[in-house]
Amino acid sequence: IAAEVGVAVSRKEAQQALVEMDANQDGKADKEEFLQWWMDSGKSTVGRLLTSVINKAGQNTKYLPGISLGDNVHAVPDLLQAAEKADMLVFVTPHQFIPGVLGKLKGKIKPNARAISLVKGMEITPDGFNLISKVIERELDIKCSVLMGANIAQEIAEGRFSECTVGAETTADREAWLRLFNTPLFQTRGTSDVPAVEMCGTLKNVVAIGAGFIDGLEEGNNAKAAIMRVGFSEMIKLIKRAYPETSDATFLESCGIADLITTCYGGRNRKCAEAFVQRGGKATFDDIEEELLAGQKLQGVLTSNEVQELIESWGDGAEKEFPLMVTINRIIRGDIPPGDIVRYAEMPSKED
Ligand code: 13P
Repeated sequence: IAAEVGVAVSRKEAQQALVEMDANQDGKADKEEFLQWWMDSGKSTVGRLLTSVINKAGQNTKYLPGISLGDNVHAVPDLLQAAEKADMLVFVTPHQFIPGVLGKLKGKIKPNARAISLVKGMEITPDGFNLISKVIERELDIKCSVLMGANIAQEIAEGRFSECTVGAETTADREAWLRLFNTPLFQTRGTSDVPAVEMCGTLKNVVAIGAGFIDGLEEGNNAKAAIMRVGFSEMIKLIKRAYPETSDATFLESCGIADLITTCYGGRNRKCAEAFVQRGGKATFDDIEEELLAGQKLQGVLTSNEVQELIESWGDGAEKEFPLMVTINRIIRGDIPPGDIVRYAEMPSKED
């Protein structure tokens, strides 16, 4: 497995820290000893320096401290070097970075490589939208499957049980990805209903923002269950409008109801939306992301804006079919207060 990890330190800073790291680790061949020295030094890093730490310590000390990545994981800071000979490419970046990543890979990967996307979001176009897997297929000219599910990363990293759903068009692709991902503790089930799997993973992040508003307002369990129910039914309606051939069974897979539940209880979108309410309008989502997510990127806010554009592109009356999605977006944009979430059925607007 190879990965381009982060970009935030300058080349000069990274070089300096690497020299320091090499100078200070004389005799620290032992992983544990190196790790202890690195943690004691109080350094936190991203970029090229982080890949060096991962390879020396076997841990991602910034994003997954305390979790052993296993001896077969090697971090490569150069994206092309990591990907050019790969047969299977796994995309897991925040969706705002996808165009940059694809730009670097275009024309440089094996023509028969297979891709899988764990990325949630969409590309809005003048005549509609594209799912991220379709953007990957278009830009790289390879097939792209998807993997979504009730998968809070920290719990998987700790080796706790979870399920997930692989959406792949062909049996051969499904079997290939299941062989790669399926383990007793990461139960993977396949389906050919690819767009519905990806749409579920994408849209549930918007509902989770609504659930976070409810938590921040301390409206209680009944209100949260109501927002999740309405959110789920709007997800289904939206997915079926975009993809009428979608099978209802997909919504009962891990990518559907289960991912919605886990994200509305344990996800980052919920956590940041709760904080947004608690700060009483004194902090933006960007401020909160920086404060609470330590360099990770929130997907639900961007996705809510994309979903709003999509709904508006469907013309007059479409907003009324998705009152919760629209209300969540109005709160995100600061047009109405978070407390209006429980008035979603009236679709409150600034003028009200
Ligand atoms: P967030 O942590 O980004 O809210 O979502 C978690 C998730 O996608 C679980 O499948």
